[in-house]
Amino acid sequence: MLEHCNCGQRYDLDFRLVDYKKHVSIDNVPVLICPKCEHEEILPWLRGDMSALLRSLPLDAEPYGLDFTDFNELAHIVYTIFTCSEVDTKDALKAEIMASCALRINALLDLYRCAGDVGDSSWMKEIEARLAQLTEKVCVNGQEVRFSPA
Ligand SMILES: [Zn+2]
Repeated sequence: MLEHCNCGQRYDLDFRLVDYKKHVSIDNVPVLICPKCEHEEILPWLRGDMSALLRSLPLDAEPYGLDFTDFNELAHIVYTIFTCSEVDTKDALKAEIMASCALRINALLDLYRCAGDVGDSSWMKEIEARLAQLTEKVCVNGQEVRFSPA
């Protein structure tokens, strides 16, 4: 996250409105922008989740809009920190995002245990999907956090 562009400049973080097939407007998609060569791309960690969301969108009704942060745990965290945090360096921002991801993972794991205790398998599935949006790409104290539904 917030690493370097091919031209050597470090990326800035920003958010974009993405139009999908002129039918769905997806707001608050996190993007990396190079302040030097203006290269712009969706945050790499989110590409897979973004395509999965696009594939799942109904296109047979009236055009509509949605907020990506409502559909993605990581995007939600990145957006919240980007808009609320008072830190002023990219490294501090990145650290804050990582810490917030770790907290959210722990909260979700607690929920997952609750869902397991009451034997609610559809709830467990939903939490697993949310965990998957975070756990493949999160490092805590230099170690990758992985979720294993043991
Ligand atoms: Zn560049």
